[in-house]
Amino acid sequence: MEEEEGPEFGKPDFVLLDQVTMEDFMDNLKLRFEKGRIYTYIGEVVVSVNPYRKLPLYGPEMIAKYQGRELYERPPHLYAVADAAHKAMKRRAKDTCIVISGESGAGKTEASKHIMQYIAAITNPSQRAEVERVKDVLLKSTCVLEAFGNAHTNRNHNSSRFGKYMDINFDFKGDPTGGHIHSYLLEKSRVLKQHSGERNFHSFYQVRDEADHGAGKGSSDSDEANYQAVIQAMKVIGFSSDEMDCVHRILAAILHLGNIQFVETESGLEVAEERLVDHVARLTATPRDLVMRSLLSRTVASGGRELIEKDHSAPEARYARDACAKAIYERLFGWIVGRINEVMEARGRDPRRDGKDTVIGVLDIYGFEIFPDNSFEQFCINYCNEKLQQLFIQLILKQEQEEYQREGITWQNIEYFNNSAIVELVERPHRGVLAILDEACASVGTVTDRLFLQSLDTHHRHHPHYTSRQLCPTDKTMEFGRDFRIKHYAGDVTVCSGTYSTDLTLRSMWPDGQQDITEVTKRPLTAGTLFKNSMVALVENLAAKEPYYVRCIKPNEEKSPGHLDEERCRHQVAYLGLLENVRVRRAGFASRQPYPRFLLRYKMTCEYTWPNHLLGSDKSAVGALLEQHGLKDDVAFGHNKLFIRSPRTLVTLEQSRARLI
Ligand code: ADP
Ligand code: MG
Repeated sequence: MEEEEGPEFGKPDFVLLDQVTMEDFMDNLKLRFEKGRIYTYIGEVVVSVNPYRKLPLYGPEMIAKYQGRELYERPPHLYAVADAAHKAMKRRAKDTCIVISGESGAGKTEASKHIMQYIAAITNPSQRAEVERVKDVLLKSTCVLEAFGNAHTNRNHNSSRFGKYMDINFDFKGDPTGGHIHSYLLEKSRVLKQHSGERNFHSFYQVRDEADHGAGKGSSDSDEANYQAVIQAMKVIGFSSDEMDCVHRILAAILHLGNIQFVETESGLEVAEERLVDHVARLTATPRDLVMRSLLSRTVASGGRELIEKDHSAPEARYARDACAKAIYERLFGWIVGRINEVMEARGRDPRRDGKDTVIGVLDIYGFEIFPDNSFEQFCINYCNEKLQQLFIQLILKQEQEEYQREGITWQNIEYFNNSAIVELVERPHRGVLAILDEACASVGTVTDRLFLQSLDTHHRHHPHYTSRQLCPTDKTMEFGRDFRIKHYAGDVTVCSGTYSTDLTLRSMWPDGQQDITEVTKRPLTAGTLFKNSMVALVENLAAKEPYYVRCIKPNEEKSPGHLDEERCRHQVAYLGLLENVRVRRAGFASRQPYPRFLLRYKMTCEYTWPNHLLGSDKSAVGALLEQHGLKDDVAFGHNKLFIRSPRTLVTLEQSRARLI
């Protein structure tokens, strides 16, 4: 490492620890954190601790230091990983992805922004206009998505309430030519209610001029400033002023809609303040009649042949109003993502490459959420994290072990926590929680939450990661017939099943345009199944790429700079599986390279290999080279690849190479 990374800063890579114990790990993490070294490697994985203060680690000068360097040449940084991903893509035409994980407030979104900024800064040396445009849109899209998808929560003032996967497409020169954003599971219930001390999506506070009702209260000067930035960003992306106007009208309409109350009169259900209906109708350019009708009644299939209108009861009407407000917001968000994607779609691909460009994917997705009351949304989020953890285990731990076996390197097995039982519990066909939920939704009205829970109990009575009050009658933290608990690897989460029917009902109340009879009666896919399908697709997509990982740690609950709560951190280190990760790396090797690639880079440092070797095989040539450097003890020779134990060896090689060029 460079002088900047002297011993007083601890070990820049946890692989270099004297012993791999939680104590040693925490000591190193803490020491580095106190010295402002928030990044530490485990091999190629970056562990990051949120500093909650501005550190002089970013910007053009820092970017220049990392550009084109090898991972071990500079102190650990996100930039180094962004560069490694970019290099892998450029040199080896590999699709790569950077998976950023950690709990809410751990610094995932900030990390993803630094990575994007790095990639934008190091690309397009020829200043091609199209590349500039794409980079501009990529960077500006973050600002717009945050306005509509982020909110102030107790855990994070700017918390992403949706998951984001962004692909950046690159041409053969390694410059960005386009991109695509995929958003996951927007927390739309926030439109209607927030935990105490939390706010609605930022966007609502930015339209207070249009609607000073309801959730619009409580905006501040910084909302105003952000609003200007959002407008600016939307313009750069290419939203027309008509479109922006429409967005504002929709936001205002949602606020008015949320304020509508119902009264039961002799002639039936009525809207308390009809003026609000007028506003909604005007703002959404919808006939007033239609708005009124959809608030007070719904369309149902009668006898399977005819469509009839059925009046709502007051609770049904409130439910319909809320479902409608949430659905409009979700669609608005989806539309904004879609517009950004249109603008970013890769243009001007090189036809010689058959439109096959390479991709870097960046995943910034919510971490585990454990609240006193956990609803369907937390259930999905936590399931998603189990999936990602499973992928991490598979790719980093399992693949690594398998590679050693394949290469004929001696290997001691490492025990690690395998969470596939939890993933199975949720997604297994026919009897997983989601399948049972689908069944319950299909017969909504006849199957109650209690029956849903009974079915879960029957199927998972003996499952080590499942329990409920029925199965564990003494546990008063769960309610009979309502709650069930999943023992996630990050902790126990009690889920309240009363929140489940929401989306199915919503779908029947908020159908697309004109319905015919089959649309009313057919069985829709439930939100749970839709989410599962999108997770399976995401994991498949990630698994096909060369992965890089950023593991974010939240140092304390108070968002306070400089303070590291050891207990909290230990917990995160444990459930992120970081110790196992270090063990595998150590039993293992810091680096592995196919012999030809190794020679290409270092052959100039040895008289036997420069310019070409006469040693029979690349493997023996590499052996001779390392012998000459006195580094042979630190490596193992696989069938096709060289395995290097410590980063130190790489640094030595890099230094002797640098002296010659
Ligand atoms: P997450 O996306 O994991 O929920 P964020 O990335 O939004 O968390 O980070 C939460 C807050 O922590 C940010 O708004 C910022 O104030 C602070 N923060 C995160 N990363 C950094 C960093 N590298 N430097 C300084 N502050 C940071
Ligand atoms: Mg975030």
